[in-house]
Amino acid sequence: MSSVTRRATSCCDDVPQKSTLKVDEARQKILGAIEPISASEKLTLRNALGRVLAEDIISPISVPGHTNSAMDGYALAGDDLPQGGDRIYRVMGRSLAGAPFSGSCESGQCVRIMTGAVMPAGTDTVVMQEHVNEVETDSVRIDDGHRCGQNVRQAGEDIAAGSTVLQISHILTPADLGVLSSLGIGEVRVRRRPRVAFFSTGDELRSIGEPLSEGDVYDSNRYSLFGMLKRLDVEILDMGVIKDNTDDLEKAFNEASLMADVVITSGGVSVGEADYIKPILEKTGQIHFWKIAMKPGRPLTHGRIGKSLFFGLPGNPVAVMVTFYQFVQPALEYLASAHYSQPLTLMASSSGNIRKRKGRYEFQRGILEQDETGKMTVKKTGQQGSGVLMSMSLANCFILLDEDCDGVAAGDMVRVQPFAAFI
Ligand code: AMP
Ligand code: MG
Repeated sequence: MSSVTRRATSCCDDVPQKSTLKVDEARQKILGAIEPISASEKLTLRNALGRVLAEDIISPISVPGHTNSAMDGYALAGDDLPQGGDRIYRVMGRSLAGAPFSGSCESGQCVRIMTGAVMPAGTDTVVMQEHVNEVETDSVRIDDGHRCGQNVRQAGEDIAAGSTVLQISHILTPADLGVLSSLGIGEVRVRRRPRVAFFSTGDELRSIGEPLSEGDVYDSNRYSLFGMLKRLDVEILDMGVIKDNTDDLEKAFNEASLMADVVITSGGVSVGEADYIKPILEKTGQIHFWKIAMKPGRPLTHGRIGKSLFFGLPGNPVAVMVTFYQFVQPALEYLASAHYSQPLTLMASSSGNIRKRKGRYEFQRGILEQDETGKMTVKKTGQQGSGVLMSMSLANCFILLDEDCDGVAAGDMVRVQPFAAFI
């Protein structure tokens, strides 16, 4: 392995360096290097939830298919509504949802109608039953003050036949499944899901069930990574733990890149003696950059091995989650759909002081709360070290402190990114 001559920088060193990228720049570079997946498959509606459309959906029919009543009441012609006083109408029959009235309506006539029932010939207006008095079994009194066309849903008002209902690259939501089924569409063409292979690196890592010797730790990154990937509905290939040795790592890199669109590793991306990821990536693939002005997560390697995108995440468990959410998740979304929109953020009042130095973007872990008046308050989840995974476990949001922020006083407004944004 080539020897590393660069000066070792600790991940707690706050001085940004020349080769360091800002968080937004890094995300842009990552997205710019991605060729979205074009392969597709046909799926039934229930299996297509959360998947990315590979085709525009053109409506084969109009919805509603027929002009129908939006209320229970009486249908009549708008021109024939009472003018300046009550009027008595003869009830010619009934129109129910699924059982339309077959006759037609003349002046002085109306038809009893229920919500969703087809408007009978000669009618275009419905008077709600609450505004109608029954005079006899086949006649009703209707009062003044109604509007021609009221309480009627026009054919095609929701969706016109031939119109584009959903566009290519749209991610299917529960509402979309409802819309598609309302058009009688049972199958859709969606993009293939991204395949993601990942492994942890480190001689000190033990799997659950193995005894811990002095200095060993259980591998937690593979589990948090699994959890974050699972939420994204990608194909997951867990390759286990790989020791800090060049041959094993090189073999794992090559294997992973043959199987997956994206390869993710954790650990070994700094410039310590056992940090092999960067030199191996330089040898087996291409490296794009490896330092970002952020905390936690500064040492991050991004590049390519063969056709696969590569993310060498830091080893520290919180840094893994922060860099995944800020860089890998956007990349996977873009790869799957050719779209990425930043998760929504909101402003909250900080319940305490937060220490911070200028220069790096910090993702502190917080608990966001809302009181009865709607006021949002956020507090830190205790110790914020990049190895303190409980700071993530207790949190429900990131507190976003940008490069220029040099500390927060209690009561100041801060920007937060709720974790719900990542689900
Ligand atoms: P590294 O980036 O390999 O120097 O690792 C930084 C820190 O993260 C060290 O304390 C490692 O023991 C820890 N670490 C690395 N990988 C994992 C993992 N998969 N699970 C838990 N801790 C890890
Ligand atoms: Mg290591």
